[in-house]
Amino acid sequence: MCNVFNGYELLLFKRFNLHPEEWIEWRDKLRQREEDGTDFIGDIPRELWYLSVALHQRPRFLLHLVQDELEKEKKQYLRRIGETLLTTYINMNHFTEFHLDSIFKYGEDNKLPKEIFKCPNVRYLSLKYNCLYEIPPDIGRLQKLKHLALTNNRLHVQSIPHSLTFCSSLRTLLLDNNLLDALPGFLLQMPNIETVHRHGNHNYFKSTFMWYHTDVYCRIMPLVGSSVDILPKKPFKLSFWAAKAIIGSKMNFFVDENVAPILRDYVCDVYEQFNICQNCSSACLISEPGFKVITFKNPYLGNTCVPFQHWVCSLNCAKALEIPARMEQIRKAEHLDALYERYVHDCQQSFYVCERKRKVFSCLSGEVDDDLPESDCDTVVSLTSAQSTSTCTQSTHSTVSELTMDMQHKNKPKNCAIM
Ligand SMILES: [Zn+2]
Repeated sequence: MCNVFNGYELLLFKRFNLHPEEWIEWRDKLRQREEDGTDFIGDIPRELWYLSVALHQRPRFLLHLVQDELEKEKKQYLRRIGETLLTTYINMNHFTEFHLDSIFKYGEDNKLPKEIFKCPNVRYLSLKYNCLYEIPPDIGRLQKLKHLALTNNRLHVQSIPHSLTFCSSLRTLLLDNNLLDALPGFLLQMPNIETVHRHGNHNYFKSTFMWYHTDVYCRIMPLVGSSVDILPKKPFKLSFWAAKAIIGSKMNFFVDENVAPILRDYVCDVYEQFNICQNCSSACLISEPGFKVITFKNPYLGNTCVPFQHWVCSLNCAKALEIPARMEQIRKAEHLDALYERYVHDCQQSFYVCERKRKVFSCLSGEVDDDLPESDCDTVVSLTSAQSTSTCTQSTHSTVSELTMDMQHKNKPKNCAIM
């Protein structure tokens, strides 16, 4: 059974976390109301509108929390590090879906509380329309996550952490209307993903997919390191070097028994300070230089192609990643060219069969002979259209793409869709 955690609940606990005195006040009012057996709780200020909604939609949930908290107070319960009211609320209710769309406005503090990523049974997470600039590495804790909606945010390709690869159950990823100029290269290492939506990033993609049509040898670009470095000055502690090695290894440190739980939190805290080489096991501080590599995996989608962007630590790593990817792309292009030629050949055969049966011009002008099968007529028109617009058999030509798409329609559905 799905149990939904809503945006108004997140806002409520974010507020109580910032203003614990307000929680005490409303906790006592709720307890009093329960003892009196009335519905009256007093006036709720407008800025606490999410409390009104929660009391209306989820009165039992809040009451259970109040009772639990009062019990703990009686027993002088000591909270663990990182344990908050929201942690207790989430653990009590076993949520499986988080519907957190449109809860933050532009300019607001839209930091996502870590607690929502510590809910192990979440299968559905929607964060649309939140002006998010980054997704925290804690996303990798959601081992059962199947559907992740990040539509309409402000995400760049670097805003999506490599730890997303730990979400091995992920099937659907929605990235429409963000600021992506390519898809993160590590998505290619997530074989269970079936659907990726990336509409609305087209203007940004254009700047990258031009690399498909230009010099293939220019797909490796040197990068200077970021000038932002918020880590303390050297010498770093042992935990820092441990975190660096763990991050570079790309191991799922959230589940690996060799990584102590306290170190997991620390690795998460420093995760965004590193770029991870997608060829070797290096993690480098974001202030260090590296290389950006563009590859193309699924080139034929309508008239465009889908670029993937990778970060690598050295020129050797860049070549080790780019050259095989380009070879694979060329092989696929040659395969599609062969398919195209076969398609044209089949169409020509059908054309001559059609011609033998009747005068071809009566077919094109719409005067269909009753004896002629409909499918033959369709083939003739399709072939004519291809001949009139196609000037070459290069796989990058739009007509080829259209034909390829057309052929895919007639075959079985694709396993993976990037839209
Ligand atoms: Zn490397």
